[in-house]
Parts: sequence; C-alpha cells; structure tokens
Amino acid sequence: MRESENTASAETESRPPEAGTGRLVLFGHAPVPTVLEVERRPDAVRFRRAAIRLAICWLTIPVVALVPPHLPWVALALLAGPYMARREWIGEFEIRRFEGRCPGCGERLDAKVGRSVRLPMPIDCPHCHRQSMLEHAGPARAGEVPQRRQRPARTACSRPTP
Ligand SMILES: [Zn+2]
Repeated sequence: MRESENTASAETESRPPEAGTGRLVLFGHAPVPTVLEVERRPDAVRFRRAAIRLAICWLTIPVVALVPPHLPWVALALLAGPYMARREWIGEFEIRRFEGRCPGCGERLDAKVGRSVRLPMPIDCPHCHRQSMLEHAGPARAGEVPQRRQRPARTACSRPTP
C-alpha cells in the first residue's frame, strides 16, 4: 500500500531500496547468489521521464535541422526520442547495490549503480565473455518481484525407461 501512496509526487530517491538478494544464472552452471538491492520505479515516474526524453529529443529537431548535413541529424533526433523514452519506460527497477561473481569464471561482475533496469537483465562478463542473467531472488516485499516475467516452473520430464 505504501507504493500507491506516493506514486505521483515522490522521486525514486525518497523510497527505501528493496534489500534482498539476486542470483546470476548461466546455462550449464550453478546459479550464483548475489547481493542485489533494487528500487522499484513507480509507473508515474517512468512515464514522466519517458515523456521528457521524447520531448527533449523531438524539440531539438528544428535546431539540429539547421546543421549540415541536415537530414542525418533530424533522423537521429527523431529516432533517439522513442529509443530513450522506451529505455526509461521499461526500466522498472533502479540498481542501488550489486555485488556478484560470474557463474562461469568466478570473476567479479559490475552493474552500474543508479541504472534503470528490467529484471531479469543480462550481464556480460568482461573476462570470459559469457552472458549471465541477473534475477531478483528476494527476500523482497510481496508483490515486488516481477512475477510475470518469470517463466513457469518446468515439470519433471519423464525419462525413458530402459
Ligand atoms: Zn566470466
């Protein structure tokens, strides 16, 4: 209920981060637990920031159209607006703290603090060049974990009997 009380006026900075854990999943390797603190960004904040990004990019079109060669700058501003707006809109969570190691090689991985992300998110390992998926594994407050993006649990496959 706290989420709905301050959706319109509060910035994400005023909300307490969701202390919890995450895990890094890489195919063929055991999942590695991580320290992950994220903060859910309210829909109103995401929408407002997306609209601002779109407006800024599109309002610069008349200005950049004066700079030769004109057409590439106009096209760039025209396309950058929806791209940046989409990034703002889909970033449901903001990373507050992340500490994790690559499930493949064990090296330390970095995720930019303050970055808006959608979970699960891919993280590339600069050492072994494999891509792990960072998932929120709780203990988050009920309803905070993006359940709709998690795949349903697989049922046990029936093995052929010899
Ligand atoms: Zn690695």
